Amino acid sequence: MKQNRHALPVGSKSVVGQAAESGTPVVINDVTLSPTHQHNPLLPETRAEAAIPLRIGSRVIGVLDIQSTNPNAFTEDDTSILQSLADQVAVGIDNARSYELAQQAVEELRKVDRLKSQFLANMSHELRTPLNSIIGFSRVILKGIDGPISELQQQDLTAIYNSGQHLLGLINDILDLSKIEAGKMEMAFDDINLADTIKSVMSTAIGLVKDKSVELRQEVPPDLPPVRADPMRIRQILLNLISNAAKFTDEGSITVRVEIQKVSETASEFLVKVIDTGPGIAPEDQAKLFQPFSQVDDSPTRKTGGTGLGLSISNALVQMHGGRIGVESEVGTGSTFFFTLPLQKPQPRSAEGDRVILSIDDDPTNIALYERYLANQGYQVVAVTEPTKAVQKAAEIKPFAITLDIMMPGMDGWQVLNELKANPETHDIPVIVCSILEEENKGFSLGATDYLVKPILEEDLLQAINRLNPDGSIREVLVIDDSADDLRMISKMLSADGRFKPVLAQGGKAGWETLSKNTPQAIILDLFMPDMNGFTILEKLQSAPELRNIPVIIVSGGELSSAQHEQLAEYGQRLIQKGSLSEKDLLASLEKALKRLSA
Ligand code: ADP
Repeated sequence: MKQNRHALPVGSKSVVGQAAESGTPVVINDVTLSPTHQHNPLLPETRAEAAIPLRIGSRVIGVLDIQSTNPNAFTEDDTSILQSLADQVAVGIDNARSYELAQQAVEELRKVDRLKSQFLANMSHELRTPLNSIIGFSRVILKGIDGPISELQQQDLTAIYNSGQHLLGLINDILDLSKIEAGKMEMAFDDINLADTIKSVMSTAIGLVKDKSVELRQEVPPDLPPVRADPMRIRQILLNLISNAAKFTDEGSITVRVEIQKVSETASEFLVKVIDTGPGIAPEDQAKLFQPFSQVDDSPTRKTGGTGLGLSISNALVQMHGGRIGVESEVGTGSTFFFTLPLQKPQPRSAEGDRVILSIDDDPTNIALYERYLANQGYQVVAVTEPTKAVQKAAEIKPFAITLDIMMPGMDGWQVLNELKANPETHDIPVIVCSILEEENKGFSLGATDYLVKPILEEDLLQAINRLNPDGSIREVLVIDDSADDLRMISKMLSADGRFKPVLAQGGKAGWETLSKNTPQAIILDLFMPDMNGFTILEKLQSAPELRNIPVIIVSGGELSSAQHEQLAEYGQRLIQKGSLSEKDLLASLEKALKRLSA
């Protein structure tokens, strides 16, 4: 019947149609006498028929139809038993349907959530790029690089600079939250000195209370043991708690206190408290503080700004450190926000950072090659074959330099590079991108000896050049970038130093043309340019013997957009097909890069 798409409309002249319309059982005990019964050619022997509605409350979702070859087959008792059976069946069917709908909704939500995270990541990248100019240029002018400025201009520019930083803070918060929600927030643990971190955060806090009569106090016991934590994130948590306290406290004091407390016979923990004498928080409001976007006073007329994200991010970060966060507060007296961090025995460092090279490569035979080769040069090689562990390892041993393979399963080298450069503990370590392609034992090295992430600060830029320039031989620096603003900014930073003469080329094609006419002593190279990208230039440099030895500092936007990821993948494919240097050349250019760094 199902195959034949047998159907009976609700209310039609049929036993099932009537039961469906009326919502009550319809019983025909002798079908030969009934005008309602419809003869069904598939059931020729039917003599009696009962149709029982499947009801959910007053809603009929179907009909249970029972036919018998015996006339008078259905008694009144049978009908009532069948009805209670039908009621159960109806509930069952309805539950199954709701479940299916719920599953669909969950799947939809997951999809939306993924899109949201991706959107946020892309957006924050897009927002950060123009902010790079706002922050960078206002700083350049404030520092007097463009010439002297009046006090009034100084004030206005400071406002622009501070607003830029504020906006960057908000964007970073939103990005952090989306990373946390997508389970993609990663920690770079190190042994850190809590007293130092607190001291540095407190010096920032002075600016936050400078117009109020609020005293800042630190009660940190001397000789605290080191804590295993991500220094940047601990700073972020402390800054959030202290700046909240500063925001809400108009007079009195803000105290940061550290204690060590026992949690069991064998384990202890750090307890960090931020105590203020502000308005306090009512008990009913305390519970929601650690949820995203929640503020005690969310009226548009409220006195203080903020997104309501700080505490929920801090909460997640503290949990990722294995600690707890909480608040004790009394209205009118003040609030104490606290968090804990587990106390662990310090882990010994695996090697002395001085002459250590961290080699990130998924293939141990490649690492063995580096080991053999670099041991002769007096370097010790520490291997990382699992790219996801690379950043943590680099933060732990602080190597002299890192060699990085590009084509790795799970996480490609560019992602590793981005994370290395996004992490304050590792962003100073020079990275040499080099890779061995399995086939025919060919290698390639891009020879880039440093990598900077926008927004670029002049300190970072000059440090990177200085690392390559121990003998002062670098004078002319070619800057290749498709963004006119970035070109101007980098050029200002270089000129301000006085030692370097920037030569600017807008876009890859122009860059390559300049290179073939005039040889600079160093190159600052943007990776993503529409006409000719940075990789192509690096490859071309490698294949020109007279240009191969020019040190290159790569500059690129922080998070990669999906288009850029595609570009990287395509680039990797192309390299596999080409294979530019022999193994011997690869090792030689690795040696040269290292020499430049350590001369
Ligand atoms: P926001 O960016 O809005 O400060 P937070 O998550 O850091 O976001 O804080 C959420 C809310 O918690 C604040 O808007 C405020 O209402 C309350 N709050 C946080 N710290 C304090 C404090 N020290 N005293 C009083 N209220 C506070």
